[in-house]
Amino acid sequence: MKPQSETELAELIREANGPLRVHGGGTRPVGRPAAATPLDISGLSGITLYEPGALTLVVAAGTSLAEVEAALAAEGQRLAFEPADWRGLLGTSGEPTIGGMVAANISGPRRIQAGACRDALLGVRFVDGTGAVVKNGGRVMKNVTGYDLVKLMAGSWGTLGVLTEVALKVLPAPEATATLILNIHPVKDVVAALSAALGSPFDVTGAAYLPDTGVLVRIEGFSGSVTYRAGRLAETLGRFGPVEIDHEPAHNFELWRRVATAAPFHNEPGNVWRISVKPSDAPGIVARLGCPVMLDWGGGLIWALAAQGRDVRSEIGPFEGHATLVRADGATRAKLSVFHPEPAPIAAISAGLRERFDPKGIFNPGIMG
Ligand SMILES: Cc1cc2nc3c(=O)[nH]c(=O)nc-3n(C[C@H](O)[C@H](O)[C@H](O)COP(=O)(O)OP(=O)(O)OC[C@H]3O[C@@H](n4cnc5c(N)ncnc54)[C@H](O)[C@@H]3O)c2cc1C
Repeated sequence: MKPQSETELAELIREANGPLRVHGGGTRPVGRPAAATPLDISGLSGITLYEPGALTLVVAAGTSLAEVEAALAAEGQRLAFEPADWRGLLGTSGEPTIGGMVAANISGPRRIQAGACRDALLGVRFVDGTGAVVKNGGRVMKNVTGYDLVKLMAGSWGTLGVLTEVALKVLPAPEATATLILNIHPVKDVVAALSAALGSPFDVTGAAYLPDTGVLVRIEGFSGSVTYRAGRLAETLGRFGPVEIDHEPAHNFELWRRVATAAPFHNEPGNVWRISVKPSDAPGIVARLGCPVMLDWGGGLIWALAAQGRDVRSEIGPFEGHATLVRADGATRAKLSVFHPEPAPIAAISAGLRERFDPKGIFNPGIMG
């Protein structure tokens, strides 16, 4: 089913009496496959309103991310939460959409400074499980009365409603970018260097580790300021080892694209886990993992390339955070959930929300399992 309008979509949902698999570009591998009718939202496409002066973008949910990024780039603007193209990592094809981006609440390396998709979301329109059209939020920040459904829809993975339109805050793209590179690899030293960078007053917008490069720290802004801050930060980080400062735009873009898309793991056999932790816990958890890793968010995000079949969650034992199974072979996906199991009280609230927003239980059955 591929509705061409919100009204048609609402009608389809009102009449639906069986499970629906909501998708935009379909670039995310489906969780445990459940017999559901595909509901393709890419027919609801187009930029509804774009006011560069007001830093505001309103767009239909089925619009491709590529179309939006091109329109923003033409005005020297961007989505600050740095959405990345995971098709290489996931081995999927298709055109990622804005609705899929919001439903997954995606974010990239700049999350540490700019927040995630949820934090740039100003307003939403969606159709709930009864076929009712719900509008919440608006086109400016702080426009939410009552419960903030805008934030609730970000990261709901199509289980509470089908997004038809979203309003986003966009930001200017920087004049210059520089990356400080330190060829250090022991995880304890890597996390110490990243924490020192994030604790500095130099407004770091990326703090990551690539196994084939070392520690990466990004500075963005006006070129004079970038040169000054990068120089000062290099002095601060000098105690960890020699610091190279890379000002070359194309090289900077490539480095952070590799971080955002976990490029080192693209063509490597194995399952990919994304583990959110306290940076100070990262060295211990990496030691327990004993497999290739890369780090982002100053060590708060561990990407792990684990052998197929490994239950990384139970192996690393209890920890503060959550482990998401992003890419897996069929057998592992059949036995392990994609998302970290929620503690019982949270799971009860989540089930209650799904029941309220989707009383027929038709949206993406099993996707959160
Ligand atoms: C576990 C996991 C975590 C991810 N985290 C990130 C990340 O942090 N950063 C990043 O850049 N990429 C991330 N991705 C990749 C991300 O899923 C895709 O980039 C993005 O969702 C692609 O959009 P799409 O249109 O192809 O979505 P699809 O693959 O079509 O759908 C993705 C999800 O969004 C839902 N959905 C799609 N359209 C709508 C809509 N209109 N209304 C309601 N729900 C909808 C689907 O039901 C599905 O649950 C992640 C993928 C996975 C598997």
